[in-house]
Amino acid sequence: MTFKATCCCKQLSITVSSHPEINSVCHCNNCKQRTGSAFGISMYFKTGAIINKTGETKVYKFFHKEQSHEQCRYFCPQCGTTLYWTISTMPDLLGIAGGCFSASDILEPTHTLNNANKCSWVNFPSKWHVQE
Ligand SMILES: [Zn+2]
Ligand SMILES: [Zn+2]
Repeated sequence: MTFKATCCCKQLSITVSSHPEINSVCHCNNCKQRTGSAFGISMYFKTGAIINKTGETKVYKFFHKEQSHEQCRYFCPQCGTTLYWTISTMPDLLGIAGGCFSASDILEPTHTLNNANKCSWVNFPSKWHVQE
């Protein structure tokens, strides 16, 4: 099975051939700002599972203070969607923005991260693992 994620304008896409190794929602300010939403959905795939990439990207590189790592975010220069990213502390994994997968393909997350910063009106299924 394959899963394809695209940006808003569809010029940028990435296709993977496996389920994510890590599938989580994150409540840190950086994820909120990146998505413009109450939380980010971060799916991490083995880099070997990437079977196709299309389109042109720009890169935003920064040091993530809250999590003490360097991140490179690849976004669409036309529509601005951040589609995928790398994290210096997890070199074998690629993060893909979960909301960019087509609705029928999206897999239910299993973890919720940085919960101290969670909006009080957001609630998740009790079977999800809560990681502070
Ligand atoms: Zn785009
Ligand atoms: Zn985050």
